[in-house]
Amino acid sequence: MTPGPTLIKKCTYCSALICEHTALSWNSFGATFWTDGWAYGRMMVPHLMLIRCNQCESLVWRDEMEIVREYDSLREPKDVKLPAYDFMNQPSFNEYMAYLKKFGAKPDKERYVRQNALWMGNHLRRIDVNLFSAGVWDKVVVNVDSPLTQGEIENLEIFLKLLDASDEIQRLSKADGLRQLGRFSDSLRLLEKPPSGPMTAAHKVIENLAQSSDSMVAKIE
Ligand SMILES: [Zn+2]
Repeated sequence: MTPGPTLIKKCTYCSALICEHTALSWNSFGATFWTDGWAYGRMMVPHLMLIRCNQCESLVWRDEMEIVREYDSLREPKDVKLPAYDFMNQPSFNEYMAYLKKFGAKPDKERYVRQNALWMGNHLRRIDVNLFSAGVWDKVVVNVDSPLTQGEIENLEIFLKLLDASDEIQRLSKADGLRQLGRFSDSLRLLEKPPSGPMTAAHKVIENLAQSSDSMVAKIE
């Protein structure tokens, strides 16, 4: 990963300063991918658009925050006192849902929130020794067989409506979402169209799981 500029931004609600570490480049070497589209790798940077402010706990869109200062992350100026608050605070499933209920969001942002809520909910169903050692799981009690909660089902049903099946990646997300809801024949119908090169592995795993009537999120080996 090549670090990019560091941005000091201001929370839209309480004006707390928050540090955003950007990356000029990253790669997915050695990353683990999952059927629901979530991926984790040491060289990857989580692309969080909606974050939680550590001071006031509001959820704030990154692109709506005022940039107070920007500097080269490799040459940190001596006169700048760095904010105490880190940027990468991802909201929980319940926080995402509460946010949408209170504020709503435009379709592209709503899709982002619902997808991230889906991922956060599914974290307790993933098991991977690398994720434990990386501390990703420090707040999650793993229960790989745990069924979707009513809230997760409602979120997933709305998320699926926001996906465009003519786009291959979104179609695959939709097929996996239908599979997670136990709608295996609907999922397989979406998978009838042959995958293109990069999507072949994910397509195959989701198809095999749907054919086996398996609704659990799974790793793509
Ligand atoms: Zn704040």
